[in-house]
Amino acid sequence: MINTTPRVRFAPSPTGYLHVGGLRTALYNYLFAKNKDGEIILRIEDTDRNRYVEGAVENLIDTLNWSGIKFDEGPHVGGNYGPYFQSERLNIYHKYADELIEKGKAYRCFCSPERLQKLREEQQRLKLPQVKYDKHCLNLSKEEVEEKLSAGESYVVRLNVEPGQIVKIEDVVRGNVEFNTDNIDDQILIKSDGFPTYHLANVVDDHLMKITHVIRGEEWLSSTPKHVLLYDFLGWEKPVFAHLPLLLNPDKSKLSKRQGDVAVEDYRKKGYLKEALINFVALLGWNAGDDQEFFEMEELIRKFSLERVNKAGAVFNIEKLNWLNAEHIRHKNVDELLPLLKEELQNSKFADKSFSDEYLKLVLEAMHERITFVKDIVEKSFYFFERPTSYDEKIIKKRWKDDTPQLLEKLIDEFEKLDNPNKEDFEKAMRGLAESLEIGVGKLIHPVRLALSGVGQGPGIFDLIFILGKEESIERIKIAIQNIQFDKKDN
Ligand code: GLU
Repeated sequence: MINTTPRVRFAPSPTGYLHVGGLRTALYNYLFAKNKDGEIILRIEDTDRNRYVEGAVENLIDTLNWSGIKFDEGPHVGGNYGPYFQSERLNIYHKYADELIEKGKAYRCFCSPERLQKLREEQQRLKLPQVKYDKHCLNLSKEEVEEKLSAGESYVVRLNVEPGQIVKIEDVVRGNVEFNTDNIDDQILIKSDGFPTYHLANVVDDHLMKITHVIRGEEWLSSTPKHVLLYDFLGWEKPVFAHLPLLLNPDKSKLSKRQGDVAVEDYRKKGYLKEALINFVALLGWNAGDDQEFFEMEELIRKFSLERVNKAGAVFNIEKLNWLNAEHIRHKNVDELLPLLKEELQNSKFADKSFSDEYLKLVLEAMHERITFVKDIVEKSFYFFERPTSYDEKIIKKRWKDDTPQLLEKLIDEFEKLDNPNKEDFEKAMRGLAESLEIGVGKLIHPVRLALSGVGQGPGIFDLIFILGKEESIERIKIAIQNIQFDKKDN
């Protein structure tokens, strides 16, 4: 099996949203497969009917598509090993459950919920280390079973775990892990509603879909001995297992909703780039063997290996994600950023206004090294899209002197003289004026910035003037002279 090209799977249960931990699992599977020219399959594990959520699968697929993880097979792309919804494969699971019963490796259990409850209470009272089914129904004779079946009694199918055995798991991440079957319950394989449990469906599908490597979260490690027993009982070759480390909050507790967002959609809505989220998630438990932190998908594919996945829990550090987001914005050119800015504008109060691509590209050029999110341009640099409606009081106090209006009038005169000016022309005009008046150019720059933007920081002042253009800049300076004068007298 090791020599064949890998086939891996991402097998989420559609619970309503894609957890960042799920994205990490999907990504590691993808990187591992693509590194070795293998295939990745999406399989929807929807056998728990109580947890069915309307629209969950569509949402999941949409989020995965957005992330850039492409599947070779799955409900949305087809493939030779479908159906890829477990709920459409029920007869397959029954076939193997019957085979296990036949071999004595599984049995029907007719115990009532009341009996099971009593058993549980009794075992808890005795303070047994683990609550387990007592194999009561394993002792039913063939005739008794037949009788109950024809009487239509409801039953489940349980795995027949022989106590006192050691189950060994070789895990690529965790090394050799051993479990004593004394601690393994006779797991239900088929529920009374006829649906399989995760354990049976998962093993059957991994086998039938020719999965070579099972890469999943550490929370599934304790299920793995049951799976190994199933592979052995069915006489199937086992896949290679790799259990990925837990994701932790900064306080080292298990990553939870209470301490921040866990749904990929939430990050998407907040304006994180998929490239940044993928980069960030890739580093949650893996490194390239050096301290490189910035990665794009192609390089991740080239460098990823399961051997470099850590055992220790990975801390989810939002500052690092923010930093990576800024880095990925910086690495994109304005043409790539343009559609993202347009989308942000569409979702903003400027949705009704129209701006030319040329204008937006100039804005991006000036801003893209200064932002963490593309939407920062819309929210913090609103002055590219509307005239300021107020002026920062602190900046007025500090920078708007009694002679400022007079100086700005002179600057307007200089600007008026310019014919189709570029950035350098504005700069020359302003510096020339400062020189001839024997004042520091700061006496012009700061008030101009305030007049144009209403705030005290932003892109380079000459970028700002050039982007807004001569007419608009002059207009804004005139408005500021009037309004700020007025404010000052008012106080
Ligand atoms: N359906 C399980 C989940 O929701 C799959 C676990 C596995 O990969 O085996 O994560």
